[in-house]
Amino acid sequence: MMTSAALAVFGGTFDPVHFGHIASAVAVSEALGDVRVVMVPCQLPPHRSEPGASPADRVRMLELALAETSNVEVDARELDREGPSYTYDTLRSLRTEIGPQCPLVFVIGSDAYKTLPEWYRWREMLDLCHLLVLERPGDRATPGVELVELEAGRASSKLQSLLERPAGGIVHAALVQVDVSATEVRRALGATGQETEKLDRALEQVPAPVLDYIKQQNLYSAA
Ligand code: ATP
Repeated sequence: MMTSAALAVFGGTFDPVHFGHIASAVAVSEALGDVRVVMVPCQLPPHRSEPGASPADRVRMLELALAETSNVEVDARELDREGPSYTYDTLRSLRTEIGPQCPLVFVIGSDAYKTLPEWYRWREMLDLCHLLVLERPGDRATPGVELVELEAGRASSKLQSLLERPAGGIVHAALVQVDVSATEVRRALGATGQETEKLDRALEQVPAPVLDYIKQQNLYSAA
């Protein structure tokens, strides 16, 4: 394993991965400097309304998307466990690996951040890591009172401040703005004869090797 001054973790379903994820991960790596970035795909709820890809396919698509990108890797530990796993547990296992002093940064989009108070041991996550909240295009709603309280005494506007201690800080940043979601990509791939411009644009935000793989494996097609 490469040694770096800090570890940044980007969790998500990546169903499929798109340039919103990749550009954000690369931007985090560039903004923080000597940092290793890992993308950690999570388990998906078994009953999803839309067709989704298997864990192995989601990992493969991440690997294809990251083939040309240094400093960003895939970490499949959540998929190797039985059943859904909590981000808190993943952060704990990463913390054990990197030791108590290394800064650990959990990267989260602003939409997902607003749901944080529903996560398992969400306040204690800050004992393990920092939070880097990336502003996502079109995301307007403001965080609720619990998050405002969480941020008191922790929030900083300086990204580099996260490298000064192992955990506990919260930074909001607008690094790159790529207006796409995996939901739009899945819809564009499943759409039959009703493509809209917005859905066509979504497919442009999928790396070419990933799109080729999706087509070869016939993923996300309307069932
Ligand atoms: P879905 O549409 O299926 O919900 P998604 O596009 O939001 O998927 P996820 O895998 O759920 O992708 O997201 C993983 C993480 O990446 C989340 O923290 C999310 O906020 C963030 N993220 C997703 N898309 C973008 C984007 N375009 N720009 C910045 N962050 C993003």
